[in-house]
Amino acid sequence: MEESAAPRFDCQSCGACCSYSSEWPRFSTEDDAQLDLIPQKYVAADESGMRCDGVRCSALAGEVGKSTACGIYEVRPDVCRACMPGGDDCLMARKAHGLPTL
Ligand code: SF4
Ligand code: SF4
Repeated sequence: MEESAAPRFDCQSCGACCSYSSEWPRFSTEDDAQLDLIPQKYVAADESGMRCDGVRCSALAGEVGKSTACGIYEVRPDVCRACMPGGDDCLMARKAHGLPTL
């Protein structure tokens, strides 16, 4: 692998995008079969997306900026899959948490 292909940021020591806004982890292009795999305890009461505690997704474990993990990684919503380390959404979330963006 070329060195330039290495990720800029390590999501497992970040989690900023998972604790950015309750509007963030919403369901969008998933089909019902996909959504059925997400444990109900993590789903918002109106079923519009992930249940959040304040701005933090309820499926996020750990401490933002130190060590984090998605509790439903294999079945996480599409918006979560689309957020790429180093992308605009990522940088916005990292900045909001005072984490390095370079
Ligand atoms: S903000 Fe960026 S680096 Fe942090 S968890 Fe999200 S995608 Fe990964
Ligand atoms: S479902 Fe997982 S990846 Fe998506 S916001 Fe919640 S903790 Fe983050």
